[in-house]
Amino acid sequence: MAKGANESFAESMRMTGRSHYDVAIIGAGMSGLAAGIRLAHFGKRVCIFERHNAPGGLNGFYSIGGRKFDVGLHAMTNFVAPGMRGTPLGKLLRQLRIDRDEFALCAQKQSRIAFGSQGGQSLRFTNDFAVLESEIAAKFPRQIDGWRALVREVKGYDDVSLDVPTVSARKVVARHLTDPLLSAMIFCPLMYYGSAQERDMDFAQFVIMFKALFLEGFARPLAGVRQIIRVLLEKYRQAGGERRMKCGVARIVERQGRAAALVLDNGEEVIATHVISSAGFAETMRMCMPPKLTEAMQNTGTLSFVETITILNRQPEEFGWGDDTIVFFNDSEQFMYERPKAQVDLRSGVICLPSNFLYGPARMPEGILRVTCLADYDRWMRLPETVYQADKRRWFAEIQLSARRFMPSVDEAELTRATVATDMFTPRTVERFTGHFHGTIYGAPRKIRQGTTHLENLYLCGTDQGFLGIVGAMLSGISMANYHILQKEHAGRAPG
Ligand SMILES: Cc1cc2nc3c(=O)[nH]c(=O)nc-3n(C[C@H](O)[C@H](O)[C@H](O)COP(=O)(O)OP(=O)(O)OC[C@H]3O[C@@H](n4cnc5c(N)ncnc54)[C@H](O)[C@@H]3O)c2cc1C
Repeated sequence: MAKGANESFAESMRMTGRSHYDVAIIGAGMSGLAAGIRLAHFGKRVCIFERHNAPGGLNGFYSIGGRKFDVGLHAMTNFVAPGMRGTPLGKLLRQLRIDRDEFALCAQKQSRIAFGSQGGQSLRFTNDFAVLESEIAAKFPRQIDGWRALVREVKGYDDVSLDVPTVSARKVVARHLTDPLLSAMIFCPLMYYGSAQERDMDFAQFVIMFKALFLEGFARPLAGVRQIIRVLLEKYRQAGGERRMKCGVARIVERQGRAAALVLDNGEEVIATHVISSAGFAETMRMCMPPKLTEAMQNTGTLSFVETITILNRQPEEFGWGDDTIVFFNDSEQFMYERPKAQVDLRSGVICLPSNFLYGPARMPEGILRVTCLADYDRWMRLPETVYQADKRRWFAEIQLSARRFMPSVDEAELTRATVATDMFTPRTVERFTGHFHGTIYGAPRKIRQGTTHLENLYLCGTDQGFLGIVGAMLSGISMANYHILQKEHAGRAPG
């Protein structure tokens, strides 16, 4: 019945000269691009609408003074060696028909979880899971059996199921690890790289992140996220997908329980049989009728971040910083992953040195140091512009000092001389450039795993559907395209 109504609606739209697509996708981030490629491969007429002039969303790039900066990329998680079957990376490459070499991924050197005022308690990990296990056996010998039991539980958990119940990861982990320090050290990287929830995680999300970081690992293309975006855009173009940049979706027109049309920022109307939105749950509801937004706002995240970026005219190894790719640090008795009570929480954070991947003989042209800390959205948003700029400079200096306690010490004057450019983003930057409410990166605390909404042909993909990070977001786009559109059409055809 719905199909018939939709066909006649589509016909009337064609007669009025408005654009009609099989699928309209809101957002050209990782999830939107992946959904678009998948659908275009199956002959769908797809158009991606993106409000900004550049693709990539939370994982894009920008230029200042001729220099390219990655927006988000520290490392691509879920990296596995070639030939490993049944992994998220393998699945996404296969589903998007991408040759592994096209992403040109290079593995990390090693990463560290460093706790204590100078990082005295530390656990190293690499893309070889055995390294973390042996660190735990050496430093927490009484916990090793519990650790192995936790790993078994993680490996046996079905994290791709779309209807798993919500369970506290803290409770599950406490059944296996009794040392609060080890437990906090394990939660720290998993929360920093993927928890929208304060203080705890849903166990499903814990498992996804545990596999992504520890059981699989980190990699990066030498050219950064540009390499990945270039490949995705090319695949999409070759498959016949259309893309309209600087062309946001302002409103979703609802009729008879369906998304009947999209009204673009320029007032133009577009219709599509299906709509997939990667803008976020509440952000998508804002495009719909007002009552839905009020409901959705109760499920918006509260966690945001600041990041400092320092460009050096020397390689990090010249400062003695050549070993670590990523360092997750915390200086306090407890690890507090929550909205800070100041503009920035300096107690914990993430240090990333993108030069420290195994690029072979190739080198990045300049050294880069990135430091991420938790930030409070409201305190950044209420600042007048002049104070905002001054506060950015002040916090930049404090964040650097805080993070460098966990790195080999360097001569301050030498570091200043080597610094050729800096940049910093705040919750304000994230909201401005991606439209995510509250400047969140990990979206809504409660994920909508099925990707369904109150409208029968409007689906969510990306962060709020439940998979995040570069690989997770792409898999989300693929699975929502498969589940809601390709499989249903196939199933609909089969009986006939
Ligand atoms: C600082 C930072 C560090 C990160 N580090 C890593 C990392 O090291 N490794 C990793 O794997 N992941 C990392 N991530 C996370 C990763 O970037 C995201 O999880 C992933 O890119 C999310 O993709 P997405 O498609 O779900 O959403 P988004 O990237 O948010 O894409 C949504 C797109 O929709 C567009 N949009 C929104 N509203 C509209 C509208 N109304 N009309 C049209 N377009 C609209 C936005 O402009 C955006 O382009 C990081 C993110 C940040 C910000």
